[in-house]
Amino acid sequence: MGLLIILAAAVTLAWLLWAILPTCYHKYLRRHLLRRQNGAERVLLLSFDDGPDPRYTPQLLDLLHEYGIPANFFVSGSAAAAAPQLIHRMQEEGHCIGLHGYRHANQWLLGPKAAARELTTGLVVLRGLGIEPYAYRPPYGNLTLYTLWLLRKHNLRLTLWSVMAQDWRGDTAEAILQRLRRRCRPGSIICLHDGCAGTAVADSAAATIEALRSFLPEMQAAGYRFLRLSEIKRADDPCRTEVLYGEA
Ligand SMILES: [Zn+2]
Repeated sequence: MGLLIILAAAVTLAWLLWAILPTCYHKYLRRHLLRRQNGAERVLLLSFDDGPDPRYTPQLLDLLHEYGIPANFFVSGSAAAAAPQLIHRMQEEGHCIGLHGYRHANQWLLGPKAAARELTTGLVVLRGLGIEPYAYRPPYGNLTLYTLWLLRKHNLRLTLWSVMAQDWRGDTAEAILQRLRRRCRPGSIICLHDGCAGTAVADSAAATIEALRSFLPEMQAAGYRFLRLSEIKRADDPCRTEVLYGEA
């Protein structure tokens, strides 16, 4: 009995150190904000996960084009392989493309071999389309120590978010818009969804796009500028928690 308790405690501790603590640190303790070294500026980073989706991504790209706003797409490798024309369009229209795994697998539930395969298969798909991604967002924001090691090995930058509008749940456009208005501030990294490769409700991206029809011009009128990931550089100091952009 005593041995079983010790074993259970050891397994729990190992799981905490392997998965829970690294995820909590990166997801909740780090500040995912854009911050210019010389002071605050009205900038936002708009990012979309789980696409591309042939029904919604073209509508979203049209909307972004209408307002001249660059976005950052964290695409699923399997969805990208199924709709390569949308990846090319994103690239041609000046958007940044990052990786969101291959089949949207939760890194917590994968052994090392499967975790490596999930990442490298997604990379192979994107490279086959002429894209060398340098940013990665893990599905559900869940990661392990091994995920961090893989990112370092493949020179991928972990990119999470500071504003999640819960747009995958099938809420109305108005509810999503209110959340965006309430939560965004200078430097926010906004996470939305243009597809349902993950757990999003099938047509939830329609409401996301509808919300953006109001949100994007409002933010522009308020003086906000939207950034690409390629404009952001990592701080030289590894202890610094904000990401920096532009000239120091
Ligand atoms: Zn996702």
